[in-house]
Amino acid sequence: MWCIYINQINIAYKNPKKILTPTSGFLYEYSHSLNPYAGCSFACSYCYVRQSPIGLFRKQEWGTWIDVKQEVKEKIVKEIGNLKKKKKKVTIFMSSSTDPYQPIEYKDKITRSLLEGMIDMPPDFLFIQTRSPLVTRDIDLFLQLKNRLRISMTVETDNELIRKKFSPYAPPIQARLKAISQLRDNHLPVQIAVAPVLPFSKKFPETLSKVVDRIVIDDFYTGDGSQGKRTEKLKIKELYDEKDVEMWYGENTHLLTVEKLKEHFTTDQILISQEGFKPY
Ligand code: SF4
Repeated sequence: MWCIYINQINIAYKNPKKILTPTSGFLYEYSHSLNPYAGCSFACSYCYVRQSPIGLFRKQEWGTWIDVKQEVKEKIVKEIGNLKKKKKKVTIFMSSSTDPYQPIEYKDKITRSLLEGMIDMPPDFLFIQTRSPLVTRDIDLFLQLKNRLRISMTVETDNELIRKKFSPYAPPIQARLKAISQLRDNHLPVQIAVAPVLPFSKKFPETLSKVVDRIVIDDFYTGDGSQGKRTEKLKIKELYDEKDVEMWYGENTHLLTVEKLKEHFTTDQILISQEGFKPY
C-alpha cells in the first residue's frame, strides 16, 4: 500500500475540441501525443514541462493545477477513425506533458476511458509512459491492446531518500517495481526508463535486471529537450550534494550509467534517450 498525497490542487474540467496532438521534436516518429490531463500533481522538481509554454504561461505553480479533459472516449474513437479513413498510420505517445496515472485518475478515469475508446478503434501503436503503480488497474484493457503496446515505467533511482528529495509527491520506488513486475507477469511489453538518472546504489542494475529486460537511459542533457538548459533554469544542480555533482550531474551521466548497467544487461537491452521511446 502506498499513500496518495494530493496537496492543494486546483482542478478544472475542460472540453477541448480535439484530444490528439500532432507531434514534432523528440517524438517526431509518433503521429500524435495524447495527454488525458493538462498539469501533473506529481510535480517532479526536474519536470521539463515546467519550462515549456504549458508550465510558463500558467499563473499557477506547476503541480498545483490539473485540467481534466472531458468526453474523451467519443473523441478518441472519432479522431482515430478519421485518420484511418485517410489511411494514415496512428502511433500515439501517452503522455508527453502529464502522467496518465497521476492520483486524480483513481477517481476520474480519463486514461481508462481513452483506452476503452482505443479498444473500439485501435491505433497502430500506443506507448504509455508513467511512474504510477495505478497503471496495473488497466491490465484487462492492455491485454486487449498488447500487440500494439509498450508500457514504460520511470524508475530514476533505487534510493528512496533521493526520490523524496527530487520528487516527493511521486510514488515510492518499490511500488513502481512491483507494478512493472505485475505487468510483465501478464506478458505485457514493458520497459523501465531510468530517466532522468538520479544517484543510485551499486545494487540498482541487479534490481532492475530482476524485473525487466529492456532499459532506457536519459540524463538531464540528453532528455530535457534543450541539452540541459531547461534543467539549469530549474536549478536542479542545487539539489545534489556537492560530492555527487561531478558523477551524477553532467553530460556523461547516461554513459556512466550504461557502463554500470552492462554488468547485468546486454548492450542491446540498454537503449539511450530517444531510441528507447520509439513507436515499436
Ligand atoms: S510525472 Fe512526468 S509530467 Fe508529471 S511532474 Fe513528473 S516529470 Fe512532469
